[in-house]
Amino acid sequence: MQNHSKTAPKTAPSKVYIKRLQDWSNDQKISETILSAWQYLEPMADFIGRDDFTAIKLTFGEEGSDGYIKPAWLADFLKSLKQKTENLFIVETNTLYREKRSNAVGHLHVAASHGYSIDKLGIPVIIADGLRGRDGQNIPIRGDHFENVKIARGICESDNAIFLSHVTGHMQTGFAGALKNLGMGCASRQGKLLQHAGTLPEIIIEKCIGCGACMIVCPANAICIKKKKAMLVKERCIGCGECTVACRTGAVEIKYDENSVKFQEKMVEYALGVKKALNSKTAYINFLEHVTKNCDCMSKNETPITPDIGIICGLDPVAVDKASMDIAGMDKFKEMFPGIDPLAQIRHAEKIKLGVSQYELVEI
Ligand code: SF4
Ligand code: SF4
Repeated sequence: MQNHSKTAPKTAPSKVYIKRLQDWSNDQKISETILSAWQYLEPMADFIGRDDFTAIKLTFGEEGSDGYIKPAWLADFLKSLKQKTENLFIVETNTLYREKRSNAVGHLHVAASHGYSIDKLGIPVIIADGLRGRDGQNIPIRGDHFENVKIARGICESDNAIFLSHVTGHMQTGFAGALKNLGMGCASRQGKLLQHAGTLPEIIIEKCIGCGACMIVCPANAICIKKKKAMLVKERCIGCGECTVACRTGAVEIKYDENSVKFQEKMVEYALGVKKALNSKTAYINFLEHVTKNCDCMSKNETPITPDIGIICGLDPVAVDKASMDIAGMDKFKEMFPGIDPLAQIRHAEKIKLGVSQYELVEI
């Protein structure tokens, strides 16, 4: 047993399973690997009943991105699950920022173009927060930041869920895995906005050349150009961070230190709400393949920052993410985003009893 924490454990470590896979060029081999990881986890995840609505939560990737979980990899895993429940489906929620995936129509088009459709998978794809991302349900959590969280209704009405998370870095959290898939990925649009609020960017006038790129990408019309300089209308800003990506001169800055910690804390309070809504009938499978600096919401292909590692899974999202961070190499994520501490999400998740960061790693 490995003890990965500096402090004495207050609770027993969670079991985390790793199935190593370095060559991701053969879809059939990948599919068999994912199935064998699931078969290890399945006896512990014995909550799926014949009539249950079982959600497989993942992200389809943005148009132009290649860093998402490929449907062909899931063939054997889905076949196995279909034998347990007739009501299996893939689920996702709309994005906060204005792109094709910000409404269910555009979202399903992107999903289908990446192979996520009923004709290819044999199971339906559902957008859990409705046509425009407004269909949310309040879940009481009594956290430090939120009394209630607003979770997509289609998630709340599911009986159980398996979260498939492609591990990446992230400009606001440093690391994105199961906790982000749970917290941000299952919130309604309002829920996403409430997590982002307070993480507002700043425009450094001296660096701004007035090109207008930030204004074009802003989904909230929160930027205007005056006297050849960008100006931020703070009361309109939803803190989506799009302008920071669009700006090529580094004139848009987010004060990551403070805001990132708060953002991560809010995100894991949402994650707690999702777990509560599903009565803890959840399992987590992290994909450590093509781990890039930015998440799959970016419309571009990126070079990986780590070698491909394999599948990490378990029933505790905190332990699964902490193991993923450790095994991929915490330094890699910190190098990509200096000033952001990805452990903030782990610390708060542990504090609010979403899970434990100590884990026993089992090679399978
Ligand atoms: S100003 Fe930037 S962070 Fe704010 S809404 Fe617009 S693009 Fe998003
Ligand atoms: S993208 Fe950057 S340089 Fe261009 S207007 Fe916006 S802040 Fe200024």
